[in-house]
Amino acid sequence: MAGSLPSVTLNTGRLMPIVGFGTFQIVGRSQIFRVVDAALASGYRSFDTAAVYGNEEDIGEALRELLPKYGLTRNDIFLTSKLAPSDHGKNAAERAARDSLSRLGVSYLDMYLVHWPGVAGIPMESSRNLQIRTETWNALSALYKQGILRGIGVSNYTVKHLEELFASCEVKPAINQVEFHPHFQQKELFKFCEAHGIHLQAYSSLGGSHNRSLVQDPVVTSISQRLGKSPAQVLLRWAVQQGVGVLPKSVTPNRIAENIKLNFPLSEADMMALASIKRVEKYAWNPARVA
Ligand code: NDP
Repeated sequence: MAGSLPSVTLNTGRLMPIVGFGTFQIVGRSQIFRVVDAALASGYRSFDTAAVYGNEEDIGEALRELLPKYGLTRNDIFLTSKLAPSDHGKNAAERAARDSLSRLGVSYLDMYLVHWPGVAGIPMESSRNLQIRTETWNALSALYKQGILRGIGVSNYTVKHLEELFASCEVKPAINQVEFHPHFQQKELFKFCEAHGIHLQAYSSLGGSHNRSLVQDPVVTSISQRLGKSPAQVLLRWAVQQGVGVLPKSVTPNRIAENIKLNFPLSEADMMALASIKRVEKYAWNPARVA
């Protein structure tokens, strides 16, 4: 249960549960109600959505309807959404944040992330990406200061993107949400974020929805069998034990429950074995070429 798992203290001073519920590709009112209900029952108190997921309205409605069943209110939930790549730029960014608030039916967001360092419609290599995403960041910083966004952060930012952001930003990002798992360990980025007080939050910890090679990796399955834990739990625990947040996505009630039961230790040897997996594979989009 979430109660036995730590929260992380962000550089805003606010707490965030280290395990959140991922909602990419979960759509449709009845499905959203079913999974949000299962997630709340299992102890999730943090939900990750995005404008591009097309599910903000249903998630907002499901939370409003289901929270009282668990004796919870809006303030008990950590809600994250993200700015779409098509909404970069000063005016568009402010409008996008307000639109997300309105679709979710909330007066504030706990976290709002720049989903992607590139601007939709501009070539990845163009230096205009930097100029426009800087405007985006300044617009979000103003909303953070107003308290409508209680935390702001980025997603899919490389060390280069972060260094450029630091050169001009007044508000430092609280989070960098990136692909992170034993097949894509991002050691340099992880170290960089730690050194700058940015919380690294992992996505696709299980390899995403279209690939089973991570949950079927022989190192993962052998640890899983020895400990009597599922491969997913081993992968999620590996991140959490390093202080990295996770956002497992599932529409399957028993998996939803299992993915938050991570209160078991992995030995140093098992942590090392997972960190030593040689296979390097990226399962989601790659921001390395975005200027
Ligand atoms: P995950 O790595 O969480 O994997 C989801 C897949 O794993 C689904 O097919 C799910 O199946 C399956 N699964 C879930 N639990 C288990 C289990 N216990 N055992 C075996 N299989 C399991 O995928 P995502 O790519 O969705 O990443 C998680 C979240 O991270 C997203 O939902 C989103 O919130 C965020 N994200 C952010 C991105 C960004 O650019 N910022 C990019 C990608 C993701 P089923 O649902 O059928 O149970």
